[in-house]
Amino acid sequence: QEKDYQMMLRTRNPGGFIPAQLYLTLDRLSDEYGNHTLRVTTRQGFQLHGILKKNLKAAIAAIVKSMGSTLGACGDLNRNVMAPPAPYKNRREYQYAWEYADKIADLLRPQTGAYYEIWLDGEKFLSGEEAPEVKAARQQNGHGTTFVDKEEPIYGEHYMPRKFKCSVTVPGDNSIDVYTHDVSLVVITNNEGELQGFNVLAGGGMGRTHNKEESFPRLADPIGYVAKKDIYALMKAIVATQRDYGDRFNRRHARMKYLIEDWGVEKFRTQVEQYFGQPIEPFKPLPDWKYEDYLGWNEQGDGKLFFGLSIENGRVKDEGTFQLKTALKQIVTQFQLPMRLTANHNLIFYDIDPDHKNAIETIFNNCGVVTVAEKIDPLTRYSMACPALPTCGLAITESERALPGIIEGIRTLLNELDLGSEEIVIRMTGCPNGCARPYMAELGFVGSGPEAYQIWLGGTPNQTQLAQAYIEKLPHKEIERFLEPLFAYFKQDRVAGESFGEFCSRVGLEALRGFSETYQPI
Ligand code: SF4
Repeated sequence: QEKDYQMMLRTRNPGGFIPAQLYLTLDRLSDEYGNHTLRVTTRQGFQLHGILKKNLKAAIAAIVKSMGSTLGACGDLNRNVMAPPAPYKNRREYQYAWEYADKIADLLRPQTGAYYEIWLDGEKFLSGEEAPEVKAARQQNGHGTTFVDKEEPIYGEHYMPRKFKCSVTVPGDNSIDVYTHDVSLVVITNNEGELQGFNVLAGGGMGRTHNKEESFPRLADPIGYVAKKDIYALMKAIVATQRDYGDRFNRRHARMKYLIEDWGVEKFRTQVEQYFGQPIEPFKPLPDWKYEDYLGWNEQGDGKLFFGLSIENGRVKDEGTFQLKTALKQIVTQFQLPMRLTANHNLIFYDIDPDHKNAIETIFNNCGVVTVAEKIDPLTRYSMACPALPTCGLAITESERALPGIIEGIRTLLNELDLGSEEIVIRMTGCPNGCARPYMAELGFVGSGPEAYQIWLGGTPNQTQLAQAYIEKLPHKEIERFLEPLFAYFKQDRVAGESFGEFCSRVGLEALRGFSETYQPI
């Protein structure tokens, strides 16, 4: 008899879009086949944990029949395409970001029929019509040859050397960690708000391996600008460059960030231009990036409201008097609201009739869910943790289950040091893969041994700068003792308005070490 293998199932939702029907299906599946919880991922999808192998087929079929998919949510191909979750109906650039997140996801969707054959006995359910121009672009290879649907016109025979991650955002909105993707597109509009084209960044990525210097997190570089009509050709040219020149021998060196690092941006751009067939225009100037989480009640610009809910570590569950899963199910059932998952594992309900606001608030209140953003500890609000133990096979140590306690300790410490109003971006992962993007945090914890973490310092509140590794293996129980001198130094020598991460980056790791060595504990 076969063992009861437990699997994790992850959905594919460009821009984090979850229709009401799909949410209710996922909620049901988590009870029928999973561990009774849902997990919002840091790439705007849902994960279901604890699904037995024998139940996978029924679970995947139910998802696909509810306008969802898991196709391409894992593997060496394009993963979930991210986009800002804010549903502003009166700001066209946000609508373009959603539209092109869908279109890029369609363009880079694998064409294999195997998915449907294996999981759906050959039946095909489409979650939406593919735009004709996307289909045409996808079907044509770099030499103008048109393929039929069943072949892989973009990935070829061997798919990509490694996973490939994309995002689409609007100028100034860094709710999606724009520098951490293989490719990020920034919509560029004219004065009338019409889409003209896209700024293109490439070569970001978080994953690394402990004690392997040749693996590292990297920020994406500006590559240039392309007109709207050329965006599919440009995306295909970038994918083809990585497909043909990415490292297929060493998986630790296979992401596109290493190709760009090894070649340099100029050589990379030149190769992409060869596939593209024309020069790439210079990158357009952009405003500064800002991190937004869109929590609480907001106008969406068409008379309706949207509501952003903070979900600690992305875990949708019922536990004691905290009945988040019940609340979400009740709200979706009653009001049939669509949702957008955010890159910080929160969620946004939208298209809300203002008349329903009070009823929704009441459901949350009755279920013990805090809806007022200001009542959430900012350390929790801006933090992220990956699932790690017990559900991730790659985890070296705890993350999701450990972070709340660690934040509690940091909260006490900050209060004692009279730094209680600080908002510090804290991110934790159970291994160096970096799913919760800890290398962009002001204070990053990366599992490096049983109950021990590598510490990263120096990211910024708007996630525009890489942190640096400060200490390799800090035992869990020493975290507060270790942080106290760093916070004390920050309090003493910060300049006005400087955040903890900005301070660490300005003074440098050596100064932090020097101060820590001479520090007398309070
Ligand atoms: Fe990702 Fe590693 Fe966390 Fe697993 S333990 S979820 S691979 S970062």
